[in-house]
Amino acid sequence: MPKKPAKHETETMDFNNPTYSFVPEGKHTYRQEGGYLVCRSCELRHAVWIGMDKIMVGEDSNGNPILRKR
Ligand SMILES: [Zn+2]
Repeated sequence: MPKKPAKHETETMDFNNPTYSFVPEGKHTYRQEGGYLVCRSCELRHAVWIGMDKIMVGEDSNGNPILRKR
């Protein structure tokens, strides 16, 4: 029996989740700094805590960060 591929350990951040409601509307360019994603495209600097066990591996077509577990 062939081995099942490992479960995909990526997730897309859900900015519709009320937890992230403080994020201003619009497109954001995030850079990871430690356990935070810090937005570099807004005048008002904001960041989202993602935890130390995640890595930002890219953006989806909506510009939302794609996260992967370390
Ligand atoms: Zn922003």
